[in-house]
Parts: sequence; C-alpha cells; structure tokens
Amino acid sequence: MLKLELERTFHDEEKLFPSGIIEELWDKTGGKCMICGKTLVWKNRGKRGSKGAWKIGPICNPISKGYVLSNCEIDCLKCYEQTRL
Ligand SMILES: [Zn+2]
Repeated sequence: MLKLELERTFHDEEKLFPSGIIEELWDKTGGKCMICGKTLVWKNRGKRGSKGAWKIGPICNPISKGYVLSNCEIDCLKCYEQTRL
C-alpha cells in the first residue's frame, strides 16, 4: 500500500476514535497488542517500521453504536493488517 494511503487512513481514524477511548484501552491492555500480547510504544501509533508500532481498530462493524470501548482494540501493526486488510 502507498504511504499516502496509509497516512490518509490514519487521519480518518483520528476522527473516528475519541482520544479518551484510546487512552482507556491503552491503560486496560497495559500497552500491549490485544491479539498477540506484544509490547507497544505509545508514540509509534501508526508508524510502520517503528518498534512497537500499533493501531486502534474496530472488533466489529460499528454502524449503529459508533466506536466505543467495547468494540475497539489495540493491535500491533502486524496483527492489525492480518485481521483487517
Ligand atoms: Zn499483535
């Protein structure tokens, strides 16, 4: 995927996920990938190729409720791409 496309996706996500939800999830997981348990790095959110890069993503389609704590998870980029792309 082109870098530009990735960045656009990342910025769209910024609007979708209120920062409160992201921080709460991060606290809940202790900064680890919710799929494989890998330790993530807060400042490397969405930074492909960086150590501990991660993304927040929906577990199920949030059409009715929007993104809430119970239907989002924090994943390392590898798991994120394996499950969503
Ligand atoms: Zn993972």
